[in-house]
Formats: sequence, C-alpha cells, structure tokens
Amino acid sequence: MPYFNIDSQKARTYDAIVIGSGISGGWAAKELTEKGLKTLVLERGRDVKHNIDYPTTNMQPWEFPHRERMPLEAVKANPIQSKCYNWKESSAHFFIKDEEQPYVQEKPFDWIRGYQVGGKSLLWARQTQRWSKYDFEGPARDGFAVEWPISYDDIAPWYSHVEKFAGISGNKDGLASLPDGEFLPPHQMTCVEKYFKEKVAQNYKDRHIIIGRAAHITEPQQIHYDQGRAKCQNRTMCERGCPFGGYFSSNSSTIPWAMKTGKMTLRPHSVVHSIIYDEKKQKATGVRVIDANTKEMMEFYAKIIFVNAAALNSNLVLLNSTSSRFPNGLGNDSGTLGKYFAFHNYRARVSGEYEGFLDSTTDGRRPNGSYIPRFRNVFKQETDFLRGYAAGFSANRSSKTDYSGEGEALKHSLHNPTPGNWRVGSHIMGETIPKESNYVALDPNKKDPYGIPQLKISVDYDDNDEKMVKDYLEQMTEMFTMAGFTNIRTSDSKQAPGLDIHEMGGVRMGKDPKTSMLNAYHQLHAAPNVFVTDGASMTSTSTQNPSLTYMAFTARAADWAVKELNRKNL
Ligand SMILES: Cc1cc2nc3c(=O)[nH]c(=O)nc-3n(C[C@H](O)[C@H](O)[C@H](O)COP(=O)(O)OP(=O)(O)OC[C@H]3O[C@@H](n4cnc5c(N)ncnc54)[C@H](O)[C@@H]3O)c2cc1C
Ligand code: SF4
Repeated sequence: MPYFNIDSQKARTYDAIVIGSGISGGWAAKELTEKGLKTLVLERGRDVKHNIDYPTTNMQPWEFPHRERMPLEAVKANPIQSKCYNWKESSAHFFIKDEEQPYVQEKPFDWIRGYQVGGKSLLWARQTQRWSKYDFEGPARDGFAVEWPISYDDIAPWYSHVEKFAGISGNKDGLASLPDGEFLPPHQMTCVEKYFKEKVAQNYKDRHIIIGRAAHITEPQQIHYDQGRAKCQNRTMCERGCPFGGYFSSNSSTIPWAMKTGKMTLRPHSVVHSIIYDEKKQKATGVRVIDANTKEMMEFYAKIIFVNAAALNSNLVLLNSTSSRFPNGLGNDSGTLGKYFAFHNYRARVSGEYEGFLDSTTDGRRPNGSYIPRFRNVFKQETDFLRGYAAGFSANRSSKTDYSGEGEALKHSLHNPTPGNWRVGSHIMGETIPKESNYVALDPNKKDPYGIPQLKISVDYDDNDEKMVKDYLEQMTEMFTMAGFTNIRTSDSKQAPGLDIHEMGGVRMGKDPKTSMLNAYHQLHAAPNVFVTDGASMTSTSTQNPSLTYMAFTARAADWAVKELNRKNL
C-alpha cells in the first residue's frame, strides 16, 4: 500500500502546508515560498488559472442566454448563494452549489462560498481599508471581547508590504480613524459625492466622505508588471475574472507568484479533513485530506501548517481535528474554539435624490464608490450602543429610456435616454460584538458528502445591533436632509447574518491562553506550529472590510514562522 511506503511518505512531506488558496492562503503561499519553504497548498475546489479559466470574461450581454440573469430553477435550487448580488449568469460558476455543500442553520445564516483556487478573491468587491489604532484598542476600552495582543504599530509595516504588491488605489485623507496606505492614484468622486463631502465637512467636525480605497491598479508599478498585471480598464466586470489582472485576486497575483518560485505544489480537489497532532512530539505533523474525485483519504506532512480555509471552514477543520490530547478540537484548551463568532451588519440603507447638478452627468464606469469612515465611538464611548459603523455612499445620475415606438424612432430613444435627478444611496457596515452565545460547532449527526461533520451555525443579531441600525438610519437621514437631498427613504432588510460575507472569529487571538486560541503571531497557544491567519483569528471586527487585514496578518505570521523555524523553535 503506497500509503505506508516510506518513499511515498517522503514525497508527501513539505516544509509548510497551506490549507486554502483564497485571499489569505494565497498570501501564505507567496510569503512562505519566497522565503524558500517547500510549500503544499491544499485547495478543496478545482483549479482556476488566471485568464484561461475565466470563460465569461469577454462576453457581451447578448451572448448570455438570459442577459446575465439566472433562470428561476437555478434560483430555487440555490436559495442561499442566489442572495448574493454577484451571483449571476456571468459569475455563478465561481460560487458553490448549495445542495452539494450542506451545513446546519441553528439560526438563519446565509453562508456565501467560492470553492476553487482563488476562493472568494475572484468575487470580492475589493474594498480595502486599514484598521486604525483605535480599532485595535476597542475591546480593551469597553471591556467586550478580549484585548488584542497586537496594536496598529505591529501591523502597519505589513499593511504597507501587502498594499504595494496587491495594488491599492486611494486618496491620502489624513484621518486618524482610517490610516492612509501606500496608495495608487484614487478613483474620482462624482460631482454630487464631492458636494456631499463638502456639505458634511461644513456641518460635522468628525464625519468625512472619501473615495473608496480599492484593490485596483490605477497606475501600474513595476511590481505589478512583474506579476503580469496591467492597468484596470474600469470594465466593472471583475467578478468574471479580469484578463488585465486589474484587480487583486489570488489567481492573478499571489498564486502564480508563488508558483514561479518553483517551491509551491498546488493540489486542487483536496478537501482537508483534519490536522494530525502527534502526542509524543507535542506538535502538529500534517493533515488528513480527502481527494474530492476519488474520496480517498491521504496524509501530507510538514513542519508548519497555515490554516486559511476562510473563517467558518477554518473553525470546522480545527473542531474536526481531535485527539486524546485535544478531544474538543485542536488547540482548544480554553474551550473558546468556535465561540465569539462575529460578522458585519449590512442590514440598513438610506436612499434619496438630488435636484441640483442637472447640467452634469457621469460617463463611463468606476469599479468603486465613496466611503464614510466610522464616526461613532471611535476615540471614546459616546452613544448608548458599543462600537460603530462605516457606510458606503454613492451618487449617480438617473435616466429614463422610452422603449415605445419602433425602427429609427426606437433606436433614437434608446441612444438618448432622458436624464433625471441624481440618485444617492448609502448602506451600513456595522461592527458586531463577539459573544460566547454566537458560536459554530460540529453537528453530532449530519455529515457532508465527504463524511466530515457538517458545521452548525448559531449566530444572531442582538440589541446592540438594533440600536446601531436605528442610529445609522437617523444620522444618515439627518445628513441627507442637511445636504438638501429629497425623497429620502430608509430601509432595514432584516437579512440574516452571513450575506455581509465578513465572517470572523471562533479562533480568536488574545493575550491569555485561558480565554483565546492564538497568540500575537497567530500560533495556536497549545500547538505553536499551527497558524490561523484568516478571519477566524479576529478578536473583534471593527467596521472596515476585513480582507486587507487578513493579508497583512498572513504576511506577518509567515515572516515570524520562518524566523521561528530558523531558530529551531518549531
Ligand atoms: C461578493 C463579495 C464581495 C466582497 N467584498 C469584499 C470587499 O469589498 N472587501 C473585503 O475585504 N472583503 C470582501 N469580501 C470578502 C472576501 O472575499 C473574504 O474576506 C476573503 O476572500 C477571505 O479570504 P480567505 O482566504 O479567508 O477565504 P477565501 O478567499 O474564501 O478562501 C478560502 C479557500 O479555502 C478553501 N477551503 C475551504 N475549506 C477547505 C478545506 N477543508 N480544505 C481545503 N481547502 C478549503 C476554499 O475552497 C477557498 O478557496 C467579499 C466577498 C464576496 C463574495
Ligand atoms: S474594472 Fe478593472 S479590474 Fe475589474 S474587470 Fe475591469 S479592468 Fe478588470
């Protein structure tokens, strides 16, 4: 049996194993291989090669059977994935099929997933803001959740490191609540966005409207050409995969970069079942994998393991990694594994119209919008709810098209829509507080198609979220009114958690091994050669889109891992 053959065991031994090839796994692969480690990247889904595997990238709307809308049968068959705004005829192939990847919703939770090389990096909206020192200090200040074991100063150089390579566009706004980064030139704000920015600045000292910071190459640098990437063409068809590599994805950037080192082995169709813990050596020695095609179980070995399966699956892998030393999941001496799970609250929206600037309109496309950084409870506690919210904001000129008539007249009206008022809109991005009662666990009875226990998710909003939604709706209405916007409408979708696609926690970092899973370098306190650097490691969530922080965390942890290996500490 090749399984027990010594040569075969050697062939399955690496310096490092990375579980998952999405945003964080791609960074782990890049950093570890660049530093000379022979690295195995295990990915449960199929391979998606940059450009080669983007079947819809150059298709015109009329080339899709349903003009990009999904047929009703597909919607019915995928009640969860179909809720994501990016799930359409041009991109649905980068989402899982609901029925093939079951999980248990103890409370309603929409789990949006992309299982392929590149993970959700093919689908993301590319918003990338740094955390500030105040975000890291939040839990220590108000006493909810545990203290972060790191500060902004620890992570700032790593933000710079990942920003330069990934390519982040943005404006240097000089805000204490949202530190500037290594920016490529910013996208432009529309005239009504600029107008709102001015009005808000005149009326509020602590509120700002800025152009979104986004992972788009607006002015390629040599490092981007070296990756084979070029300037973003503003096509706004990013979720199909971008032939220019105009936005950051693992597929266009970190994975091919790691491949070029000659040190990476990428193994798609490899579902990680669990991590192997050797009680004599008192360390993790490898992983058990189920080949998705043959359903064969096999083992791979390494000195260090990076867990980057995205927050929920990283929890699942650790929970399923049991041994007599760790009967409740790998590294779970504190009993916190799977607990203190959190997310972002995206429920509320405010929209309106503006009757000015009728001599101006927008032209072309922009893969970005404007952003309102958090202004509640940033520096001190000021409201009756904890923490705060950021918000998206955008303003575009509306137009009406007359579809009546035929022939020449119809062509003329199609080419000459009647411009209407400007439409303005905003949505909340609220911080939720990690609580013990928001948890994920293995279902004791239900298994997935690979025989792995299904993940049971029990996560909900609380009173703090309700108060925050109320405050956002009131404040945004006040700001819109102050700016002279009309026809203001507020809404609360009451959507279940999950659709924000910012799952975080369950394997949180902390100073005290009794109340946390990971130390300041993302090592399991109780098994330090295992690193968890995706959203699972988040101690609190703040309001920023999280992926830039996962990238910086991963690069920093990889640097530390290699240093610790060289010091023979792992
Ligand atoms: C529509 C959309 C918009 C978004 N917008 C933004 C945004 O603007 N800004 C932002 O910061 N974030 C955004 N996100 C979220 C962002 O995509 C995620 O935060 C990010 O991809 C997380 O990186 P990750 O490496 O943890 O997970 P992923 O990128 O999901 O990668 C995880 C990988 O692990 C693999 N995997 C899982 N389980 C196993 C296993 N057992 N064995 C082997 N492999 C496994 C998966 O197949 C996947 O490839 C958005 C997401 C979506 C879908
Ligand atoms: S907007 Fe830019 S990144 Fe997105 S598909 Fe177009 S060129 Fe590519």
